Amino acid sequence: MDNLCKATTKDGKPCTAPAQAGKDYCFMHDPDNAEKAREARIRGNKNANRRNALKKAGLENIGLPKDNYKLSTLKDVKRLLADTTNAYIQGAITVEQAKCIAYLSSTMTSNIKDADLESALKSLEERLEKTGYVNINRISA
Ligand SMILES: [Zn+2]
Repeated sequence: MDNLCKATTKDGKPCTAPAQAGKDYCFMHDPDNAEKAREARIRGNKNANRRNALKKAGLENIGLPKDNYKLSTLKDVKRLLADTTNAYIQGAITVEQAKCIAYLSSTMTSNIKDADLESALKSLEERLEKTGYVNINRISA
């Protein structure tokens, strides 16, 4: 291919990226993009650091649907919050991601508590009905 970037990489080898259309350099080596390329490198480093921190924390798949991240009990939500806290402390996720998970966890906690309360109430009503001690319909009417 004769359309490769004409720049030399920092280890002295020719850049193997394709040149941009009508230009001699790839995006990263284009002098016109120096500032954008610098920002992209910083972003790339941040992402790489984040990925490494996630890997170190054993959470490299956080954010992806995972079988073991089924949230159906308060214990599941507590585990997610503990993992999220660890991931945030290690710099593996952003404050926005941590806030988002915390918000969703709070909503999940309310829903789980409501469902648990509803089911406990239903079971209590059924037991009371069976004893014939109290007529639930009369109470709620
Ligand atoms: Zn290049």
